[in-house]
Amino acid sequence: MNQIASQIKEIESQLDNQVRLIAVSKRQGNEKILEAYNAGFKRFGENYVQELVSKQEELPKDIEWHMIGHLQSNKVKYIAPFVSLIHSVDSFKLLKEINKQALKNDRVINCLLQVHIAKESTKTGFDKNELVEALKTGLDTLPNVRIIGLMGMSTLTDDENEIETEFKGLKTLFDEVKNNNPELPLTELSMGMSGDWPLAVKNGSTLIRVGSAIFGKRL
Ligand SMILES: *Cc1c(COP(=O)(O)O)cnc(C)c1O
Repeated sequence: MNQIASQIKEIESQLDNQVRLIAVSKRQGNEKILEAYNAGFKRFGENYVQELVSKQEELPKDIEWHMIGHLQSNKVKYIAPFVSLIHSVDSFKLLKEINKQALKNDRVINCLLQVHIAKESTKTGFDKNELVEALKTGLDTLPNVRIIGLMGMSTLTDDENEIETEFKGLKTLFDEVKNNNPELPLTELSMGMSGDWPLAVKNGSTLIRVGSAIFGKRL
């Protein structure tokens, strides 16, 4: 087994069947993605629209592509035909545009609402009030998006207590939102990356987004 495939196996062996791994392949070459694919792994995450589109064109068509990076409204049209899940919906304007492009493609696109949990202001996402508002409005007026959960990114820090506090906060919010919207299929909580996924899983993550721990350093 190659290095990449064995890293994936190693991580997956530590997950129960509530939790799925997304291999974050941004700024990694197609040959690395194929190493994972040829070992049977088909779920990849990308951050940049242009890179995602060219990889989708070049690589096998049964790959499940996740958009995890900040997404500009004017670029939604490029990924709408094929994207499997958009993790990084950080505004209602973006959600409306995804609905519009999904309709054009005769699809319903699965989305997660990104919540701002980190200390850095450079990280984007809804705050709690905006989230409640978006869920209410999104439901009634946007039939071509399906909101299936929440996503968050912790602060970049070595302080595990800080990270755990942020994950716990997001899990609490997720449970609250689920209870208040029983009609929504809210099943996914996307949190955890190479440095903090065990902590995320411990605190209720269902989707972990792991890049460098699988593929090594990015270009
Ligand atoms: C790059 C990225 C990841 C993966 O980061 P690693 O530290 O390499 O695992 C996960 N989520 C998001 C949103 C990212 O941008």
